[in-house]
Amino acid sequence: RAKKSPGRGMHFYQAEMEEAQRQRLRMASEMRVALQDEQFRLFCQIQMDLRTNQPCGHEMLLRWQHPERGLVPPGDFIPMAEENGLILPIGDWVLREACRLAVAHPELGKVAVNLSPVQFSQADLPRQVAAALAESGLPSERLELEITESTLIRDHARTLKMLQDIKATGVKVVMDDFGTGYSSLATLRSFPFDKIKLDRKFLAEAGESAASVAILRAVIGIGRGLGIPVLAEGVETEVQLALLRAEGCDEAQGFLFGRPHPLPEMALRNTARS
Ligand code: C2E
Ligand code: MG
Ligand code: MG
Ligand code: MG
Repeated sequence: RAKKSPGRGMHFYQAEMEEAQRQRLRMASEMRVALQDEQFRLFCQIQMDLRTNQPCGHEMLLRWQHPERGLVPPGDFIPMAEENGLILPIGDWVLREACRLAVAHPELGKVAVNLSPVQFSQADLPRQVAAALAESGLPSERLELEITESTLIRDHARTLKMLQDIKATGVKVVMDDFGTGYSSLATLRSFPFDKIKLDRKFLAEAGESAASVAILRAVIGIGRGLGIPVLAEGVETEVQLALLRAEGCDEAQGFLFGRPHPLPEMALRNTARS
């Protein structure tokens, strides 16, 4: 298009850029309002220990209860929040809110919180974690932090030090979505993970793909060899569950056990504030 009519193409291009920029600014200001007006919510999803058939914790998943757009999933706003930096205050809110909910709901057991790679740009992240624990009174062994492989490709030494500082508080660190990123198996050796979450794509493809089953089996084997429990994400069917049991997978999470759901929030907020 630019070659055929450079003037016109340029013009459209510029208009598009301006519109995209306006949208970014609008989203940023809406996200600030969302923080202010408490429009963010944490939903929780159960995790099962397949060895004992008991719940072993819950993952806390962010939602945006938008006044006009309704419930917005994290994939629709977290990338933008990572771009404009608002993931930092949002991420801090998530940490505190997860700790608060965990204290108010002992039946949740361990709570797992997702961290954005961008949050590791803050040198005081370990201190934020410690503060969230101290303020809520949540025992550190009830908190797990999930990080993805993209967090680890940034500054190896610096990230490792931060993970060690976080772990020194007694909080567990989990490798999320394992198998989707760029990191190698050496990552598992050089970073002190307490759990590996195998990305759900391997289980989703297990029915049709022998390769996916082989990878699933291999990751469970690696976990066993390293003494790190493996949790399979995205368990939707009994057939998938049977496969995980047959392969000796330690833990599982997915719609088969329960969808992410809100906690009885209003009663809780009233109690917390009275
Ligand atoms: P994730 O950490 O891998 O979370 C699991 C995602 O899989 C969740 O999507 C969950 O609803 C979905 N899921 C769970 N079981 C099943 C299943 O059986 N089948 C299928 N198809 N999906 C299942 P959700 O809640 O939309 O979150 C998407 C991603 O957004 C998360 O992936 C995580 O990377 C990110 N995220 C969520 N909450 C936060 C947060 O508080 N902070 C940050 N930085 N990222 C978050
Ligand atoms: Mg996660
Ligand atoms: Mg995951
Ligand atoms: Mg995933």
